[in-house]
Amino acid sequence: MKWLYEFFPAAGYSKESKAELSYGYVVDKILFSDKSEYQEIDIIETPVYGRALFLDHLMMTTEKDEFIYHELLSHIPAIRLEKPERALIIGGGDGGIARELCKYPTMKEIIVAEIDEMVITASRKYLPTIAKSFDDPRVKIQIGDGAAFVANQPDKSFDIILVDSTEPIGPGITLYQEKFYRTCCDKLKDNGQFAAQGLAPLIHTESQQLMYQTLKKIFNWVRPYMGVIPTYPTSLWLFFHASKNVQDIDNISISRLPKDTRYLTPDMVSASYCIPKFVENNLNIK
Ligand code: SAM
Repeated sequence: MKWLYEFFPAAGYSKESKAELSYGYVVDKILFSDKSEYQEIDIIETPVYGRALFLDHLMMTTEKDEFIYHELLSHIPAIRLEKPERALIIGGGDGGIARELCKYPTMKEIIVAEIDEMVITASRKYLPTIAKSFDDPRVKIQIGDGAAFVANQPDKSFDIILVDSTEPIGPGITLYQEKFYRTCCDKLKDNGQFAAQGLAPLIHTESQQLMYQTLKKIFNWVRPYMGVIPTYPTSLWLFFHASKNVQDIDNISISRLPKDTRYLTPDMVSASYCIPKFVENNLNIK
């Protein structure tokens, strides 16, 4: 029996960090395995989670649980807007976030700024249920560094900017820096909505504190929200929602939530902003 193991440093992602945590997946079949100029890309068939995408042996998404992460990162910010028209996804090469944003009838353009074309090509071929919206005429693919792409956009040109990146390693590092967040803020319309995947409270404490403090320096309103992603390290996963204007999250226009969600219900939308005390303490929120 063949296994694929992912290894994690238990604290942060410094070069010195050494593996102290591992998760293993039985490999029923290797569907794709290649190395781009950025990372190793594997898509395997697993008995428990179906098809799964790994980048540099780190789990990115699986057919079985991908909807949780993709609904959380897209709809929590998107439903703040009555008529979202232009969205930018930074990273997102598996297509899951684009698929969720295509559910908004007012959406006219969804740009996916993904550094690694091989991720898109492999996802389209082997993860069709996740990558299917790359065929939607509203979805535009921009291959290249997402930080460089967003810097070249006009100010106040997006309703939504979502950062669906890898962890702060390799090409993903630029997507956790103050300059990048400040640029994203400048490119959002006045009531534009920003969200980013915010790592694991149990093992990425310092990275999360830095991310939260940095976002608060830039956006007038920042709120962490949370979900459980079974295939991410320690499962408990944070996201950060930010905007130039204060968002009244006690009055959510829940009718805007797409009807075909599988994770989010009206109550789950509100509940996602409820975070445990240890996370509040980590982020010095109260
Ligand atoms: N949902 C996954 C997670 O939470 O780890 C991430 C999904 S997606 C596969 C992450 C994507 O970010 C990858 O395809 C990777 O190539 C891309 N990426 C990493 N750094 C990037 C950068 N600087 N600009 C654009 N895309 C980047």
